[in-house]
Amino acid sequence: MIPCANPLAQYESHQEAINAAVARVMSGGWYILGEETRQFEQEFSHFCGTAHGIGVGNGTEALQVALAALGVGRGDEVITVAHTAVATVAAIEAAGATPVLVDIEPEYFTLDPTRLAQRITSRTRAIIPVHLYGQPADMNAILALAEQSGAMVIEDCAQAHGARYRGRRVGSMGAAACFSFYPTKNLGALGDGGMVVTGNQTTAKQARLIREYGWEERYVSRIPGWNSRLDEIQAAILRIKLQTLEQDNGRRQALAHRYDTLLQDTPLKLPTCRAECEHVYHLYVVRAEERDALQTHLKRHEIGSLVHYPTPIHRQPAYEGRLAIDADLAETEKAARDVLSLPLYPELGFDEQDRVIEAILDFYRK
Ligand SMILES: *Cc1c(COP(=O)(O)O)cnc(C)c1O
Repeated sequence: MIPCANPLAQYESHQEAINAAVARVMSGGWYILGEETRQFEQEFSHFCGTAHGIGVGNGTEALQVALAALGVGRGDEVITVAHTAVATVAAIEAAGATPVLVDIEPEYFTLDPTRLAQRITSRTRAIIPVHLYGQPADMNAILALAEQSGAMVIEDCAQAHGARYRGRRVGSMGAAACFSFYPTKNLGALGDGGMVVTGNQTTAKQARLIREYGWEERYVSRIPGWNSRLDEIQAAILRIKLQTLEQDNGRRQALAHRYDTLLQDTPLKLPTCRAECEHVYHLYVVRAEERDALQTHLKRHEIGSLVHYPTPIHRQPAYEGRLAIDADLAETEKAARDVLSLPLYPELGFDEQDRVIEAILDFYRK
């Protein structure tokens, strides 16, 4: 079986270093918010080109903490996309704010600035572009619209660690940015983890308070907060994997370019990379009219594939009928019907990838 993603293979490629780091933490006697977390916050925020990093429990809470740290909450509208992980929208509601959903650009699967312009009002406090599948959203247009309207931009970078927009790393362009270290992400822990990065010292300070009961010092809560902390074991593992993140992204790009070349004569619509951007291929997503039949065919050939995402947020039982949504989410709905994510992870061998390609060519020969 060739899986769609393979966090076990990634562990195995770093096994010795990870085991040693975990043992070091375990016998160190300090398990939450210690030296490993502090170092990782510095290393990762530096990698992103921002001054501050605040380790939190997961990517959803990173968004929730960032919103709260920027003072976004009850009565505020936050504009994002319906074609994303449900986490993006769940975090907005958890922060007490109201999600407003707009459509995507069909070539890039990211927030459409034209739609954004139509939906911004005086109630819009923040905009959350999602750098989906590893590709940056159209940040110049989004930042310009945000500036005109006085809204803040919070980047959802959960699928785009290391991606670049016109030379700038994702995470360095908004008022704050949020990362997930879920095991299958480009930078993944062996458990849950997340981070808020920001260039603003006040925002960083607020986020730091909020992630731990609002504590300014032990047992003294300056503001109301909650508990969302990154633990030492995950931070130690992430420090090791951060060292090879760029190399791993390079391998993802090499695999993506092989798919681009070897699938170009099929009816599949292959991913488009935005000009002047670096795509880090968290997922290699094709569009196929006979998507479900192709997925079944691949499964018969023991090849895993996934649909990101089969049900847009506004069609999910938890949200249907009660979100402020764009009147027309046609591109989102179309994407839900025809996208398919093919196997892609740094440890995938070219020989294995050839089996995936052969199975796809076989599907279209019939
Ligand atoms: C994974 C993901 C999240 C949430 O991350 P968790 O760590 O699972 O909470 C948020 N947004 C997007 C776009 C994601 O892919």
